[in-house]
Amino acid sequence: MRKATFKGGIHLVGHKEMTCGLETIPAPVPDRVYIPLSQHIGAPCAPLVVVGEEVKKGQRIGEGKGFVSSPIHASVSGKVVAIDLREHPGGSFVPCIVIENDGKEEWADSVRPAGDPALLDAGEIRQIISDAGIVGLGGATFPAHVKYSPVEGKRIEAVILNGVECEPYITADHRLMLERPERIVAGLQYIMRSVGCDRGVIAIEDNKMDAVSLMEQAAAAADNISVVVLREKYPQGSEKQLIYACTGKQVPAGALPLAVGVIVNNVGTAAAIADAVEKGTPLIERYVTVSGSGIRKPANFLVRIGTLFHELIAQCGGYSGEIEKIIAGGPMMGKTVFSDQLPVVKGSSGIVVLRREAAREAREYACVRCAKCIDVCPAFLEPTSLVKMAKRSAWEEAEKSDVMSCIECGSCVYSCPAKIQLIQYIRRAKQAVLASKPKAA
Ligand code: SF4
Ligand code: SF4
Repeated sequence: MRKATFKGGIHLVGHKEMTCGLETIPAPVPDRVYIPLSQHIGAPCAPLVVVGEEVKKGQRIGEGKGFVSSPIHASVSGKVVAIDLREHPGGSFVPCIVIENDGKEEWADSVRPAGDPALLDAGEIRQIISDAGIVGLGGATFPAHVKYSPVEGKRIEAVILNGVECEPYITADHRLMLERPERIVAGLQYIMRSVGCDRGVIAIEDNKMDAVSLMEQAAAAADNISVVVLREKYPQGSEKQLIYACTGKQVPAGALPLAVGVIVNNVGTAAAIADAVEKGTPLIERYVTVSGSGIRKPANFLVRIGTLFHELIAQCGGYSGEIEKIIAGGPMMGKTVFSDQLPVVKGSSGIVVLRREAAREAREYACVRCAKCIDVCPAFLEPTSLVKMAKRSAWEEAEKSDVMSCIECGSCVYSCPAKIQLIQYIRRAKQAVLASKPKAA
């Protein structure tokens, strides 16, 4: 069995024992769901319903405008009671459709299989994936059908499914692999058919050997799919690091995985695709972990899109102790949010709540030039030099030094003995470089 990894990175305390052994529970369906019209990379959807309209579960209620867009569906049946601006877990205010649940759970007529899955061609599979509103469920929320659209002159040599889940506390993908392994393999096969590729890889870290074993059993009949076991290390789940670990190929700076003939998707995305192709089900629910020292009884849930964070936290018995922060996602690459009245969206893998521990020193010290930040950087950057450039507002120099390749993994900050918040300076440099570019029409 191969055990590979990437260069750089750090070893974190995973805290995954809090939830990895807990079976996923269907979360109670709320009385109201709050469904943002922006749940993908690209312009927000336009609403297809008006206030007062009755909707069915799975009905399309938001339509994408651009090529990089994805439709939105009702996660309950009921009545639209508001369409207004509300806060998104990503931090901005976006248009949101509020549906009062009638409790009938009536499916829309459109939710049915498009045909015999065995007879679908590549274009038909892509259309089903597009219609079902499936985006990357690892958090990137890139519309899946766009990723699978053919690019002239580019052949896909491998489709990699990301089952790494290297963020501390989050175990939603781990549970999905234990509970629905056949769905994941079926979804991978549809992705491979949709891009004309005959090699599938399922990548899992060696801290989830139970999932490795079940995924191997589920894929045993498919001789073009293999399970690759990777060494536990952060950020193994980042796209370029994952591709290197699985194939030995280095995606060039500024390029997409397609440049090396690879497509990467999350295991959850694959399971959602299997349901869309075989049952006609759009993406209206997902696995979510609620965990952290500030949660009384951590759990894994199957959650309807639009359920508010506080409803899941209440299902966990509420908060425990004095809360320091609530994070949408994991503590390394997730986003600290300032309210629990935010909805679960397609990209929500977890909610982590951390309790205030003993007072921590916030002060930064002078750089001691230990080079630890350089050693751990998986993007082969010199974070300490980039910080100096940011302090001098030397944006061109930062761009030439490849600042845009920073994946904001936080490994440098985690390793820095001087407690320098390198990532904040680097983010500032990235924003300045982006702002200096002409805007796309
Ligand atoms: S510079 Fe960016 S990519 Fe490198 S370790 Fe720091 S946050 Fe990660
Ligand atoms: S890890 Fe911190 S102290 Fe060490 S070189 Fe980098 S910035 Fe300086």
